[in-house]
Amino acid sequence: MERIYNFSAGPAVLPREVLEQASDELMNWHGCGMSVMEMSHRGKEFTSILEAAESDLRALLGIPANYKVLFLQGGATMQFAQIPMNLLAGGSADYVVTGDWSKKACKEAQHYGRVRQVVSTEADGFTSFPAWADLDLNPDASYLHLCTNETIRGVEVFDFDSLPTGVPLVADMSSHILSRPIDVSRFGLIYAGAQKNIGPAGVCLVIVREDLLGKEAAGTPTLLGYAIQAENHSMLNTPPTFAIYMAGLVFKWLHRQGGLEAMEKVNIQKAALLYDVIARTGFYHNPVQPAFRSRMNVPFTLRDPSLDETFIGLARQHGLLQIKGHKSVGGMRASIYNAMPLEGVQALADFMNDFEQKHG
Ligand code: PMP
Repeated sequence: MERIYNFSAGPAVLPREVLEQASDELMNWHGCGMSVMEMSHRGKEFTSILEAAESDLRALLGIPANYKVLFLQGGATMQFAQIPMNLLAGGSADYVVTGDWSKKACKEAQHYGRVRQVVSTEADGFTSFPAWADLDLNPDASYLHLCTNETIRGVEVFDFDSLPTGVPLVADMSSHILSRPIDVSRFGLIYAGAQKNIGPAGVCLVIVREDLLGKEAAGTPTLLGYAIQAENHSMLNTPPTFAIYMAGLVFKWLHRQGGLEAMEKVNIQKAALLYDVIARTGFYHNPVQPAFRSRMNVPFTLRDPSLDETFIGLARQHGLLQIKGHKSVGGMRASIYNAMPLEGVQALADFMNDFEQKHG
């Protein structure tokens, strides 16, 4: 069966080459006579997989030496609790709420200490990102949390140069990590669930500056302590070995594509294809302010929502799947992560144009 174009927000499309390699290696990894799923996480084979994944990731993102890379479990949602447990240190944290995910993160953190919602853009339907100068930030906060790409509404922060300095920044980059180069040193902690731009579900990446380690609150479950996870190279208990292996294959694939500069170029092209169609006539609509329109998640509604089901059904016939929008927004959402080829996005843009001609 031919593969379809998968626009799911996550778990999401993986590079074809990566799936083929995993399939080739499934029964017998590098001649060792067993699958990655079957090997001891403490053996030399898996240790080499983990080390390669970390070093390839460090090279891709230019992660400075004073940052630890952790491969954890519980998804990005676990981080909503784990971050305050580890970083609040009896202080207070600031949260910028610009979408459904940062709102959840802020709510969860409140169970673990003093948390201030500095701003919420919910009244405007989560369609922009506030200007930093307008915010009343706490200069003594233990950290400032933001989500740099809100997956549901498709709101992305592009300008990292203007991010506030002073307090450690903690960023949820689940849905756009590795889509472009970033300056890791601007952040205290970066986290990302894997199932969008990294690999399959089951592993969550945490990149944390060393000076933030070792401040966990009393009573923090051992498994949830960053410092002890760092000391144990993410192997305090059995890690999600297959998910880490797959992430490692994706990192190598990214290197073969030319790294994150090359990915960014294609991602700009891909997003422009869809936003151009959306902007052309008004048949399609995206409410996000242009400066913050996500390159990874492109939500749009049809002028006439009674056409939604027809659109989804016909798209399916064209091999364009998982295009239905999040239930809180309605309409459609095309997630176009790194592994979605330009041809897939072109096929969707062509389909949208055709559909408009017939139904507009
Ligand atoms: N943050 C963002 C930005 C997300 O998109 C998601 C998942 N869609 C999450 C957090 C939650 O991730 P997980 O399901 O891995 O807990």
